[in-house]
Amino acid sequence: MSPRPEVWSNWAGDQRWAPAQVARPTSEAELVRVVGEARERGLTVRATGSRHSFTDIAATDGLMVDTSALRRVVAVDPATRRVTVEAGITLHALGPILAGHDLALENQGDIDTQAVAGALATATHGTGARFRNLSARAVGMRLVTADGDVLDLTEDSDPEALLAARVSLGALGVVSQVTLECSPLFTLERHDLPRPLGETLDRLDEHVDTHDHFELFVWPYTRAAMTRSTMRTANPPRPAPRWKREYDERLVQNGLLSLICRTGRRVPRAVPHLNRVMAAALTQAREQDHAYKVYACRRDVHFTETEYAIPRACAREALERAIELVERRRLPILFPFEMRFAAGDDALLSTAHGRDTCYIAAHQYVGMGYESFFRGFEEIMSSYGGRPHWGKRHYQTEATLRDRFPGWGRFQAVRARLDPDGVFANDYTRRVLGPVAAPVAP
Ligand SMILES: Cc1cc2nc3c(=O)[nH]c(=O)nc-3n(C[C@H](O)[C@H](O)[C@H](O)COP(=O)(O)OP(=O)(O)OC[C@H]3O[C@@H](n4cnc5c(N)ncnc54)[C@H](O)[C@@H]3O)c2cc1C
Repeated sequence: MSPRPEVWSNWAGDQRWAPAQVARPTSEAELVRVVGEARERGLTVRATGSRHSFTDIAATDGLMVDTSALRRVVAVDPATRRVTVEAGITLHALGPILAGHDLALENQGDIDTQAVAGALATATHGTGARFRNLSARAVGMRLVTADGDVLDLTEDSDPEALLAARVSLGALGVVSQVTLECSPLFTLERHDLPRPLGETLDRLDEHVDTHDHFELFVWPYTRAAMTRSTMRTANPPRPAPRWKREYDERLVQNGLLSLICRTGRRVPRAVPHLNRVMAAALTQAREQDHAYKVYACRRDVHFTETEYAIPRACAREALERAIELVERRRLPILFPFEMRFAAGDDALLSTAHGRDTCYIAAHQYVGMGYESFFRGFEEIMSSYGGRPHWGKRHYQTEATLRDRFPGWGRFQAVRARLDPDGVFANDYTRRVLGPVAAPVAP
């Protein structure tokens, strides 16, 4: 453990915390030891993955367990396609390793820098109406609890705790290992196409249902949309030359966006015009490569973000109301709204629990005001029973959230069983989950 407090921050740089101690265990045994020592000293414990959450979900003033050295592949079973990895391995590191075994993650989000356990803990998702969040493929987890026990959670050993641990907000213990059910290695063919917004929304269901993965970006003050339609295929990868990817990602997607954002931050009233420039610069693009190379994008321009999961049937209306909010209040919003889809699942605190889901995300460039916009956006999404992404900014509390998750009481019962003293709590979990309830007598 390091002797003096250090200041840590998230990817966006807008959440900062100074843990009393930091540990970077290299094995499960060491993890058990540091958690036990913290408990003896009366410290709370928080695990961190890659610290890519926009909320203070990973922050702590107690013991911070940096899991980045827990990054080994423990076992690969080709017959069941189940792969066991240590919790801190990043999705980026995992992709080529799985490909080496002719395997792939079923679906991914738009970056791959997250640690596996960090991605699961917040219900990280990609897009695709037939595909569930990443956590749905976690068929086993090893969890270090406050007592120093190592629980081997599987669908047979403790199915209720596994459903809770899949999306845990880090509030049940520290995950040391995860077993993921993978897919056979596949290729993705992606097609980005600028289109008029109205006709895209008129055919929204068709786009969503006829593509394996469909995503929509919409810039306020323009009537322009960019659709990203992706199909899974047995065709071999045909990667674009490296220089072309670099040119597209570094110069066009990130370079132009960065220039526009810096200009918009200096001259907010120019934002509507800048968005129209951005929309006019959108061009068609195609990519065909191994899935793990296509899902993840480069994100050089830093921003903060909020995202809500709403019933799929409300997608169009909710998006149109969000656009109207920005335009009516003349808000300087330089990033597009992002709309994605996922199948319902059963993790107790998954944002897609029990319903086919549309995710709508809103962003703001670093250094620009976001609160009034995010609160207005939240009000709209709440009117559809929206559930906030646990790793993205929101203003909800336990009181406003408990009725939005059908599995809420069941999660709290598992929490009371595994962490009765709140050793794994922080300000965020106290705010959104409330205090640990007294365990129910058997
Ligand atoms: C640029 C960018 C793009 C993003 N794109 C997407 C996207 O496409 N889809 C999406 O859904 N989200 C997306 N996110 C959000 C991101 O996926 C989540 O916030 C995710 O949780 C971050 O993973 P992490 O490893 O950084 O976890 P952290 O932020 O470090 O931690 C998140 C939570 O996981 C817990 N945790 C971490 N490791 C463990 C462990 N070993 N045991 C127990 N608990 C643990 C922490 O305690 C905390 O509660 C994006 C974020 C950024 C910055």
